Formats: sequence, structure tokens, C-alpha cells
Amino acid sequence: NSYVANESRYDTMTYKRTGKSGVLLPAISLGLWHNFGFVDDIENGRDILRTAFDLGITHIDLANNYGPPPGSAETNFGTILKQDFKAYRDELFIATKAGYGMWPGPYGDFGSRKYLISSLDQSLKRMGLDYVDVFYHHRYDPDTPLEESMGALADIVRQGKALYAGISNYGPDETQRAAKLLKDMNVPFILNQARYSMFDRWVEDGLLDTLNTHGVGCIAYSPLAQGMLTDKYLNGIPKNSRAGNESVFLNADIVQSNISKIQSLNEIAQKRGQKLSQMAIAWILRQPEVASVLVGASSSKQLKENVKSLDCLDFSQDELQKIEEIVT
Ligand code: NDP
Repeated sequence: NSYVANESRYDTMTYKRTGKSGVLLPAISLGLWHNFGFVDDIENGRDILRTAFDLGITHIDLANNYGPPPGSAETNFGTILKQDFKAYRDELFIATKAGYGMWPGPYGDFGSRKYLISSLDQSLKRMGLDYVDVFYHHRYDPDTPLEESMGALADIVRQGKALYAGISNYGPDETQRAAKLLKDMNVPFILNQARYSMFDRWVEDGLLDTLNTHGVGCIAYSPLAQGMLTDKYLNGIPKNSRAGNESVFLNADIVQSNISKIQSLNEIAQKRGQKLSQMAIAWILRQPEVASVLVGASSSKQLKENVKSLDCLDFSQDELQKIEEIVT
């Protein structure tokens, strides 16, 4: 059945400016790292994407290697884009990245100009796009001169293959150097995509300040610590969950080692009249440098729940203090 977007899709979502740029991002964005590969049900993916857009989520995040197999999330996204979102391309802000291992040999990984430019060309083909809105270098590569990696981003933007440049997983010093290089080349550098949740607060140690100084936004990934900051693991590990599937990124041991914190945080969320997932997202959005919280979802129901976090964003000092005591 053909898709017509919800007419009131822009009525309730909050949009935040990323850094000092002209770009507004939805406070909650959707990432396709999991649940969109060839191993997954594409109709479920379609349902999640339609739900996202109907809720005002205009920003969709991909990378060359998302799947599995690598590349398949972009292919599936391209299929759904063509079938459902053709009329809406200019209402979407689409990201992809390169920086992790993608194809064999010396040119399919890290940060060379050779890798970044050829990888983006592959990504555009898979998605059926002429350009992406933002292209990220996915991780800092200490063995490639930063001038080369940033120079590749600059040329990609000049060629019109990406409208804006971004970096991901770069620390404060690397970010500072990248910002200077990109500024000198007049490249619109708008985002550093960084892991940030109540369970992983490294960005508070210098990165957010650096981004603020340079007028660059932060987009926070794995805000739910891959599902741990929800109520799903309170009574054991469900089979159809990321930890239940024994993902290389999340397993029962990691969940177990955090379960008492999860329980305590869940009690605070309940007192706020909110789900733990919603409190975890609201807690990140209180940082002014964070333009958007980048969630994943294995169902449209989860995504709807997550977007409801916007109904209750304020924290009392007492709540913040209690959260601090639990997570530090
Ligand atoms: P989250 O921390 O939001 O975890 C998402 C997972 O949590 C879902 O797939 C689902 O897993 C579970 N979940 C989500 N909402 C709920 C809910 N309301 N109730 C119960 N369970 C829920 O983020 P991700 O780790 O998925 O990362 C999000 C995005 O960030 C990625 O898609 C990607 O775009 C980006 N990213 C970027 C990285 C980088 O290096 N730049 C690295 C990692 C991610 P399930 O139901 O399967 O258990």
C-alpha cells in the first residue's frame, strides 16, 4: 500500500539547531545500525521509517557498514526511500559514514582519501541518492594525516556529494584540529556524532566544551545504552532483544553488571511519570550542545515510546542529584 505522510507530522516534534549552522535537527533522530539489514524483515523497517517520518523525525542516520551484511541497511533504506519517500527527499536529512572496515585490501578501512571518496560513491549507489545531507568520517585514524581525511570531506562537499561534513568518535583534541582544518577550507562542519548516555559520559570531559567553542553540534548515539536504559531487561533477558540475541555489542553479562543501576533509575523515572527510556533521552537533551538524540528501534512501538520523552524534559535538582549518585 502506498504511503502518504501524516499531515500533522511537524506539529509536535521539537527541532534544534546544530551548532551555529543553518540546520535544524529533530530532537530525536533514527539510526539504522540494527534492524535494517538483509537479515531483518524489511516490512518492519518500512513501518519504523514511516512511523518516524509521521512523528516529524526528519533525520535518518546510516553508515556504509550497517547491516548485516555490511551495506545492506543502505540498500534496504534505498528501496524504501524509492517506494515510499520519493516525494519527501527534500524533507529528509540523510547521513552516512565511512571509517570502519568495509571491503578487503588496504583501501577499504580507516581514513584515506581513497577510502572515504570511493566508499561514499558506493553508499550513494546503494541508497539511490545523488547526495547525502551529511557525510561523516566514522572514526579518527591516527595513521592518516588529518589533512588528508578532512581534505577528502572538503572535496566531497565541493563535488556536491554531501551538503555538510561531520566526524564521529573524535576526541576533543582531534575535534579541535579537524574544526580548524575544515574552517580553513570553508567546509560547513556541523556535527560530531558521539556515544553518550547515563552509562557513558565521556563527552562531558571536554568534548561538549570543544564543540561549543567551534559552534559545532553533538548528536548522541546509543542514548539508551543499546536498550539497557529501558524497562526491557528488568525481569530478565527477552529472547528477541539485542542482549538476548547475544550481539557482539551487548550481552547478558553486560546487562547483569548494570542491572541494579537500571532498577534504581527506573524508580526515579516512575516517580516522574515517565518510562526509563524517556528519562534517559530527556537527560541527554538537557545539554545545550546536543542537537539530537540518535535512537535505534526494533519496532515502531519503541520509537513512539521514545518520542514521548519530549513530553517531560525538565529535571529537578533533586532528580539530577539522585541520577548522579546512581550512575557515578
Ligand atoms: P539505543 O541506545 O537507542 O538502542 C536502541 C535499541 O534499544 C533498539 O534497537 C532496541 O533494541 C532497544 N530499544 C529502543 N527503544 C526501546 C524501548 N522504548 N523499549 C525497549 N527497548 C528499546 O541506540 P543504538 O545503540 O541502536 O544506536 C542508535 C544509532 O546510533 C544507530 O542506529 C546508529 O545510527 C548510531 N550509532 C553510531 C555509532 C558510531 O560509531 N557513530 C555507533 C553506534 C550507533 P532491541 O529491541 O533489539 O533490544
